[in-house]
Amino acid sequence: MSDWLKAGKIAAEAREYAQEICKEGKSYTYVVDTVEDFIIKKGGFPAFPMDISVNEVAAHYCPYIVDTKVLEKGDVVKLDIGVHVNGAVADNACTVELGTNEWKELITASNDACLAACEIAIPDCPIRNIGRVIQETITEAGFTPITNLSGHGVAEWKVHTSPTIPNYDNKNETKLVEGQHIAIEPFATDGSGTVKEGKPCGVYAFLEKKPVRLPNARKLLTKIEKDYSTLPFTERWLKDFPNAKFLLNLLEKSEAIKQYTILPEKTGGMVSQYENTVEIGTGITTKT
Ligand code: MN
Ligand code: MN
Repeated sequence: MSDWLKAGKIAAEAREYAQEICKEGKSYTYVVDTVEDFIIKKGGFPAFPMDISVNEVAAHYCPYIVDTKVLEKGDVVKLDIGVHVNGAVADNACTVELGTNEWKELITASNDACLAACEIAIPDCPIRNIGRVIQETITEAGFTPITNLSGHGVAEWKVHTSPTIPNYDNKNETKLVEGQHIAIEPFATDGSGTVKEGKPCGVYAFLEKKPVRLPNARKLLTKIEKDYSTLPFTERWLKDFPNAKFLLNLLEKSEAIKQYTILPEKTGGMVSQYENTVEIGTGITTKT
């Protein structure tokens, strides 16, 4: 089995497992720590810090080292999980509603859109067709796709690369190519269909080696470059590093690293998401 298929299988297992442990009363930190440990036990490594985004937050909520948030009844939770095996990346996500059944149709809409898109993602399929089938499926269910979030190519040691895989018909006639890896990730909402940039989310990526004066900041930057390279990381993974938060702030100010932001729906609409990674010509890698 290729590393791509291994990563996909582990990601799919982790997604199943995440759904089992994502329960009312559990802390966000418990869920992400436990799923990330599961990934490592299975022989993979998190390709990015697991996201646990609730209700109107579409993406990129990642607990800090100290995070008091607890899952509540009625929460609509997006579990977004990335795995890499020797740099081969698989990215997948699902949505669960805790203890209620208010948003079943919204959740089904993004799942149906994701599966319909994965089905047509074969060699020579124009990229715009993927977006069109996502848009149609979500609109027919009575909801709106989020158009300023999109799927993407994945490559060795890269979670996000070209091409952009739109959640609407973006008129891109470029055709999918056999052997290419893409992540397809429709978001459905009852809101406006766009996200805005929220607060910083505590997830970072290395930008470039910059001269920083503080020896500990230099040490941390070296570790980041070595351990994560081009893949995103979070302060939660740096618990053993004294004063990680302070040093990350310094490195961010020096533009050696950048920080991502939480992405809430602009009008506070409820959001669901599904995601699979597909190997063009072979099919979905993220299935058990
Ligand atoms: Mn994802
Ligand atoms: Mn993705």
